Amino acid sequence: MRRPLRPLAAVVALSLAPALLVVAPGSAAPRPGVAAGAAPGAAPSAVAERDPQVPKQATATGRGGGVTSVDPDATRIGLRILRRGGNAVDAAVATAAALGVTEPYSAGVGGGGFFVFHDARTGKTRTIDGRETAPGAIPRDAFVDPATGEPYPFTPDLVTSGVSVGVPGTPATWTTALERWGTRSLSQVLVPSARLAERGFVVDPTFRSQTDDNRERFAAFTTTRKLFLRGGKLPKVGSRFRNPDLAATYRAFARNPDLFYRGSVPREISRTVRTPPTTRVTDLPVPKGYLRPGDFRRYEAEVQAPTRSRYRGYQVIGMAPSSSGGTTVGEALNIMKGYRLRGMSRAQALHHYLEAGALAFADRGAYVGDGAFVDVPVDDLLSQEFADERACGIDPAQAAPKPVPAGDVDDYDGDCATAAPRPTSLEDHENISTTHLTVSDRWGNVVAYTLTIEQTGGSGIVVPGRGFLLNNELTDFSLTYDPADPNRLEPGKRPRSSMAPTILLRDGKPFLALGSPGGSTIITTVLQILHNRIDRGMTLPQAVRAPRASPRNSATVSAEPLFLERFESVLEALGHDLVPAGDAFTSAAEIGAATAIEFGPEGRIKVVAEPVRRGGGAAGVVSPR
Ligand code: GLU
Repeated sequence: MRRPLRPLAAVVALSLAPALLVVAPGSAAPRPGVAAGAAPGAAPSAVAERDPQVPKQATATGRGGGVTSVDPDATRIGLRILRRGGNAVDAAVATAAALGVTEPYSAGVGGGGFFVFHDARTGKTRTIDGRETAPGAIPRDAFVDPATGEPYPFTPDLVTSGVSVGVPGTPATWTTALERWGTRSLSQVLVPSARLAERGFVVDPTFRSQTDDNRERFAAFTTTRKLFLRGGKLPKVGSRFRNPDLAATYRAFARNPDLFYRGSVPREISRTVRTPPTTRVTDLPVPKGYLRPGDFRRYEAEVQAPTRSRYRGYQVIGMAPSSSGGTTVGEALNIMKGYRLRGMSRAQALHHYLEAGALAFADRGAYVGDGAFVDVPVDDLLSQEFADERACGIDPAQAAPKPVPAGDVDDYDGDCATAAPRPTSLEDHENISTTHLTVSDRWGNVVAYTLTIEQTGGSGIVVPGRGFLLNNELTDFSLTYDPADPNRLEPGKRPRSSMAPTILLRDGKPFLALGSPGGSTIITTVLQILHNRIDRGMTLPQAVRAPRASPRNSATVSAEPLFLERFESVLEALGHDLVPAGDAFTSAAEIGAATAIEFGPEGRIKVVAEPVRRGGGAAGVVSPR
């Protein structure tokens, strides 16, 4: 049962510590139009005056805790909680709430996510599955157009629809995390972001271009057009974007932790999904959805055990189903572990990374779905014998033809002679939105948290008067119903995710925490960063910055331009067909937008964000010394 948090009668005024510079010395000044500095002429609020800005720096080193996210305002708000004595869980929720303001197309209270928490005191790592659920009344042919009897086209019909909206899990994730492991009230962690939404954030080129990409579907809804396309125009870079409705929603949520699951908000969301507020002029079909208030009452953010595996002396802790993140990263690492990648040429090592990724994706397709509905063989997928048998499919001289089949979890012994293939599914419509934040505190607690509304811009539908977009997460189900498919659509079920917030321990203590957005490329981004850091001896900033390729068992491997430039010819000689990212499953030339923290001796931390992808992220530490 979801236990209610104690609501605070009034907004708690946080005691304001004297301003501390929270970023590493020598960090770059905020870039005009990109960083979070106050807009010229804008009246600075009390918060802005007292809270130092965090520049868009990709690396910060120091002690006392750190926050890394894609956005300087969000990182600043998380650091503020840490500086005032909050722990990593408090700061993670505060950072996520701020991302709901500044990254409203990637994440927010209308979506879901996965929260991994390492508790320094107990040495235990726990997770929250805050994934959206399908409506109880959804029929198995919900993705079939009754007018034609054919499946709806994915874009625009399903993507911009009520039918793809699941019960949001993010509000319950926040209240559950705070209730179980936090030290601050919901109000204390939400109010800074309510203020941010009131005061507004400075529009950067990424926000403007994401609005532009969504222009047609945002214009299809009265509510969304009003909020994000004021006067039918794109927000100007450098202007201030305010969202008073979201501020009011956050304040109401701070007073009532059950806001999203009982009472008027579930009714409002259900109504919005069942009768989307379309404009009269839109051509988009916008299929209607099935959510009812009872679906919200039944929702639970599940506190569950993580996946565990080992890689070259590290314990790898990840997200269990309904995400495929933990099993797929863990299995691929188990396969790679059989090879001395460190001693290999770069091309040979990458060849093994690409093949291991494809094999693990084959098993993901065959076996992984919501564990509450299907029997996911997590232990088999993470067993070393199973991985050893899967590795039989790797020829050091030649890439296997893709797609490769899945392995047989019912019959394996690590021996190549007995390996028997099984069919797998290649369906992959996941988009490349989402956001990941990583946080640590002075006590050594760590949070890796990935959250999303699925597509950049989610379903495109803003709930009237509430200031946030609804997810379109149900598009992560397989679109055609097959009773043998673990990811088939079912009432109340969570669609399979790829989100992979991951923590590595060495001798029981945190070594590395990381994650990324990017749909199914999340898994390979996490995998490749771990490969770079552990097998190739790169520093963490190098490992994050390095160009990426994403092997997902499709005929081609999507790769970033720099990766193609460096490795295309050597990998093609080994039989890999590389294509620019954006062609097959993704719509941008970039893969992922990771954040990570590495833990050194004596409490030292290295906090890392992207230097370039998604316009660059913001890493900060409590104390730069
Ligand atoms: N829906 C995707 C997932 O759960 C995430 C979407 C994204 O990263 O863009 O894996």
